[in-house]
Amino acid sequence: GSSSGQPMPRHRVTAKGSNVPEHAESFEALKERYQLSSHILANLSSNGFKHPTGIQSHGIPILLEGRDLAAISPTGTGKTLAYTIPILQCLGAPVASAKSAAGTGVRAVILAPTKELAHQIHNEFLRMAEGRKWRIVLFSKATAATLTDKNARDKVDIIVSTPLRLVASLQNGTLELSNVRQLVLDEADRLLDAEFLSQVQEIVAACSHTSIQKAVFSATFPAGAEKLAMEMLRDPIRIVVGLKDT
Ligand code: ADP
Ligand code: MG
Repeated sequence: GSSSGQPMPRHRVTAKGSNVPEHAESFEALKERYQLSSHILANLSSNGFKHPTGIQSHGIPILLEGRDLAAISPTGTGKTLAYTIPILQCLGAPVASAKSAAGTGVRAVILAPTKELAHQIHNEFLRMAEGRKWRIVLFSKATAATLTDKNARDKVDIIVSTPLRLVASLQNGTLELSNVRQLVLDEADRLLDAEFLSQVQEIVAACSHTSIQKAVFSATFPAGAEKLAMEMLRDPIRIVVGLKDT
């Protein structure tokens, strides 16, 4: 049954926290329960994603219900889509098509420890956003320069970045994160180690909106990093996906 905590045949999933939402057995179930947009469903299908992985089946409902999440799941289990889908769903219609576009600004930030990973995440967003006019920016020196203009900045919906890049723009006053509603730390174990910690903390502090949702994703979590992560989250749900046992 669905309360066994073992929905996926090859994964052992445990979830801890208050009022843990029911996992979703299929992407269609997400449409029924959370009105996941047909557009996202179509992009999942055209990319050959037929069934959610363990972290997706458990993590997506949690994020769609607006809860904070600490997700631990091995490399290659599809952690990227587990947050990409809820972020795009929560953004709703692309800003460019909305009447009140001006002054909206960045509403989702994804941090990654390396440029290469940020690039991969950006690509996954573009695949899932195909056919919609969201502005999804891979933050770099060049893109940061184009966003010094406030009008250009207000049109951006999602930023994917390494911490250092983002902190540089915060410090020189060319970036504002006060309207961010979703913040994701991918490979959070690395983002919370000594190299990045103070930068990440500065970014978290700049995301000052009271109804911000935060999520951390990692394959592993040393105790120290996990404690830091849990302190950043509000009433979080913690999911652990076990290794495939074959
Ligand atoms: P992780 O971040 O956990 O290491 P990724 O998000 O990089 O994993 O995904 C690993 C691979 O699995 C990618 O090629 C991705 O496109 C693919 N993938 C993700 N979700 C699914 C799914 N539901 N069905 C099939 N393939 C998937
Ligand atoms: Mg990953």
